Order: sequence, then C-alpha cells, then structure tokens
Amino acid sequence: MGRAFVYVILGGGVAAGYAALEFSKRGISHGELCIISEEPVVPYERPALSKGFLLPEGIFISNWNMKNALKSARGISRNEKGDVKLPSGLIAPARLPSFHTCVGANEERLTPRWYRDNGIELVLGTRVKSVDVRRQTLLTATGETISYKILIIATGARALKLEEFGVSGSDAKNVCYLRDLADATRLVDVMQSCVGGNAVVIGGGYIGMECAASLVINKINVTMVFPEAHCIHGYWVGGIPKAEGIQGFDYSPQSTVHSPRLWTGIYSVMSRERNASGTVARLFTPKIATFYEDYYNSKGVKFIKGTVLSSFENDSNGKVTTVILRDGTRLPTDMVVVGIGIRPNTSLFEGQLTLEKGGIKVNGHMQTSNSSVYAVGDVASFPVKLFGETRRLEHVDSSRKTARHAVTAIMAPDKTGDFDYLPFFYSRVFTLSWQFYGDNVGEAILYGDFSGGTFGAYWVSKGQLVGSFLEGGTKEEYEAIAKVTKLRPVVENTGELERQGLGFALSL
Ligand code: FAD
Ligand code: NDP
Repeated sequence: MGRAFVYVILGGGVAAGYAALEFSKRGISHGELCIISEEPVVPYERPALSKGFLLPEGIFISNWNMKNALKSARGISRNEKGDVKLPSGLIAPARLPSFHTCVGANEERLTPRWYRDNGIELVLGTRVKSVDVRRQTLLTATGETISYKILIIATGARALKLEEFGVSGSDAKNVCYLRDLADATRLVDVMQSCVGGNAVVIGGGYIGMECAASLVINKINVTMVFPEAHCIHGYWVGGIPKAEGIQGFDYSPQSTVHSPRLWTGIYSVMSRERNASGTVARLFTPKIATFYEDYYNSKGVKFIKGTVLSSFENDSNGKVTTVILRDGTRLPTDMVVVGIGIRPNTSLFEGQLTLEKGGIKVNGHMQTSNSSVYAVGDVASFPVKLFGETRRLEHVDSSRKTARHAVTAIMAPDKTGDFDYLPFFYSRVFTLSWQFYGDNVGEAILYGDFSGGTFGAYWVSKGQLVGSFLEGGTKEEYEAIAKVTKLRPVVENTGELERQGLGFALSL
C-alpha cells in the first residue's frame, strides 16, 4: 500500500517551487499535490548558492534576492549601481528561508508553512529510486510506493565529478563542488578555514567564475584552471565572432585532449553543429571574455588556460596540498573548487520516455512521450519556437517558466498555447552584471566601452538579429535588448549596427 496523489512533482528545486506556486494560483484542493525531493529543504532559488550564500559580512552585493529582501531594511547604503552595503551587525550572507522560491521572480516566498497552509504534501530528504510510467507509480528509497495521475519531472541535474574525467580525489576534505545547499554549506566551511590562503578553481564556466569571485571576496588567493582559451567561452556554434577568430588557442589533438567534452567542442567548431548534450554553446567571445579576465586579474585572480588537472597530492589528513596539471605545473593549495559541468538527471526514465539532446523530450505543453508525464527545468529538452528547434537550457529563468507553463497546460490544456520562450541568462560577479537574450549564433557584433563602462554584443544570423548581450546596463536597457531580440529585426548593415550599438535596441 502507498499513497496516491493527483499531481506529483519529482524533484524539489527551482522548477518544483514555481510549479507549486502556479498550482496554488490556479486552485488545487488540499492533498492533491505532492513534491518528492532528495533535498531536506523546500524549494529554493539555487542561483543564490554561488552568490549571496558565499558572501562574508558587510560588503557590497548586487544579488537580486538580497536586494529584494532588503528593500525595506533600514540602515543600508547603496553604491551608484544600486548594490547594497550592509551595516555591520546586519547579516549579509543569504540564508534560508530568505531565498526560498519564488522570491527570485518577485513572487511570494514559499516557506514550509506555505506548503502546509496550501495542503501540499512534502516528502523531503527522500530519493526516488525507480519510476514505472506505465503503472504511474514511483518507488522511494524508503520503500514507499507513491502513485500519480500526472507526474512532473523536475529532477534537474548533477555536477560532473572529476572521476568521470579520469582524475581521482573528489572525496578529499578540501575539494568542493557546488550544486545544492549541502555543497554550499560545505564550501562556506572550507572557505572560512582558508582565509588568507590559496584556492585552485577547476573549470572556467559559470560555477568557476562565480565561485572565484566569491573566494576573492572572502580574501582567498585564486588560480583558475581550464582547458579553453577563455572563460565562459568554449567554442562557437554557427560562426566565428567578427574580427576575432580563434587564434591564440591550439585546438590540435596533441594540445589539450583532456575529455570527450573538449572533443565535442572541437567537432562543433569544425562542423558548426550544436554540442552533443544539446546545450547552447558557451557565450563569451574572446573580447568579452578578456574584459572579465582582466577584471578578475585586477582582483588578483590568476588564469592557467589550455591545460587540465592531472592529479592531486594529499596530506595525511586527507586534504589536497598540491594540484598537479597536465602540463606539469604544480600549484600548492589550501582548497579546490570544481565546476566542470553538469548532467541532467534522466536515468530513471531511460527506456521509458523519449530523450533528446541529453534531456527528456517534451512538446510545447512540456508533455513527454507519455501523456501523463511532463518534464520541466534543466532536465527538459523543449521546442524553442524562436529558433525552430529543440533545446535543453541550464538556467534559472527557463526552469521557472517551463514549470509554470507545464502547470498551465495541465490545468487548462485547451486554453494553453505552445511555450514561446526567449532564452535568458545572466550573471553577477563583484560589481559587474550582464544579461543575455536569444541565441549566440552567427556573427557577433561588439559595441560599447570595454574599458569598464557599458558594452555589449548582438549576434546576427542569416541577416537577422538573434541574440543580445549587455554588461552594466540599466533595467530599461536590459528590457530594450530583450525586446529587440524578440523582434528579430533584419540587419542589412552590420557596420551600422556596430556604430549604433545599444542605441539600436533603445530606438525600437
Ligand atoms: P534543480 O534546481 O537542480 O532541482 C532538482 C531537484 O531534484 C533537486 O532538489 C534534487 O535533489 C531533486 N532530485 C533529483 N533526482 C531526484 C530523485 N531521484 N529523487 C528525489 N529528488 C531528486 N542559472 C541562471 O540562469 N542564473 C544564475 O545565476 C544561476 N546560478 C546558479 C548557481 C548555482 C550554484 C547552480 C548550481 C546553478 C545556477 N543556475 C543559474 C542554474 C539554475 O539554478 C538551474 O538551471 C535550476 O536550478 C534548474 O532548476 P530545476 O528545478 O530543473 O533543477
Ligand atoms: P559549465 O558547463 O558552465 O562549465 C564547465 C567548465 O569546465 C568549462 O569551462 C569546461 O570546459 C570546463 N571543464 C570541463 N572538463 C574539465 C576538466 N577536466 N578540467 C578543467 N576544466 C574542465 O558548467 P559549470 O560547472 O560551471 O556550471 C554548472 C551548471 O550551473 C550549468 O548548468 C550552469 O548553467 C549553471 N550555472 C549557471 C550560472 C548562471 O547562469 N549565472 C551560475 C552558476 C551555475 P569545456 O567547455 O572544454 O568542456
């Protein structure tokens, strides 16, 4: 015997929280909805873990949820960008319950009490170990069988481990990953024991860049190691940015053959195809990446590029003391942070549902190949109307919006159209802040002041503007680049677009 629900959400992350809010707005009865999550806490805004959560006390922050949470707090001051400075004595680091969903989208904060008041059953700290989509049942690790009429898969992704790239040592006491609250809590503990010391950050993606900034703010000396020529850079899909090319980085097999992922990258450059995992290729052109790297340099961060970790040396307490790179470099260290990508949690459904581009394939209603099962967030490969193709995105905005759309489609299928999404990514580090909308394919047209002011890029593909990036914009400017990207205007003269820069978006 087990319990039965009308709706079950499998996974308790960002998408689960936004789905729960949408269910409550649309009106469900008490006892109809259940959320099952391996994490012991109710859904929270995961992005806070690499930002507000890692902050020491009393410094400027540009974190959205802290800004929101502190809007009404007395005694705070702001710099010219609107970042808040907290008076000493007022807690600075973000801690639950301040960043439970759905504060990130300026919605209600769904605390455990909110779920109780709304009659939503929470099965927390519980892993689902198998699912039978034909019988519409799930089996938890505690041995309970839970049945559903409608299942929403919101299992997100897991961090890739070094062992998957042939390097052992992830279990050392001072090697940290960052995916969930437990990881972040551990990272804070390790960081606090290393103040004034050295950290090596492995990976030049989002986690690497955001953690490096937080480590510096915590007064730790950082060296970043990654295989590519630049941070958040990797390879292009569909085109080489104007006047930049890929000089300066040796893509030959002998240089940095470190992982199947790099090979995927190489082949993507050659064949102009999307990478095998189906995610959008990384964003920064060399010039954009150089801006951020120079900024990080000015904060003391060192970059070692074009090589990868080979092994660790440990002391007798099980702590890494030296990071050894493939090129023979030895880096003495007090701690290591690893951010080398993720894999979507699809394994429970392999052989039961159709997969595509590394995720669970859904239609414009977020419905999988089984009509009783929906998939949302990082795990879903969904049709992006704007591009006319299926994509799997690994960002918070798409997690929130796919979740809400799935619930809308479940509750009012006849009144719900196909999901129409403009991809949106952002990051905030130190006092910098950028946003990106659309697609980074085609020719990149760069504009603005790369010496520390506002700058940006448009991507033009097949004569149309398809993507926009902006660093240091105002709310109105970000809205303008979002709007122009959604409109996909024809661009006849890229030189003129370059000359107009941000003015082009603002003029529409
Ligand atoms: P998740 O939020 O990962 O939630 C998945 C949930 O499912 C977890 O609770 C997990 O424990 C649970 N689960 C998985 N398998 C099982 C199982 N078998 N049984 C029970 N439970 C299970 N994106 C941005 O756009 N901007 C940012 O600034 C940003 N910052 C980020 C910072 C960090 C540190 C991280 C890790 C990610 C960040 N992201 C950011 C990405 C963003 O957080 C993700 O895209 C988003 O969390 C995906 O939501 P999700 O609900 O699909 O998955
Ligand atoms: P990313 O995919 O962004 O970056 C991984 C990085 O690690 C790449 O530079 C990659 O290079 C490199 N790498 C891969 N293998 C190795 C290796 N063996 N040694 C050294 N470097 C290696 O993943 P992250 O881990 O940074 O981020 C995880 C997830 O969190 C993503 O889904 C991301 O979207 C999300 N996130 C988003 C944020 C945001 O949107 N602001 C902030 C934080 C996290 P290569 O390309 O060659 O494989």
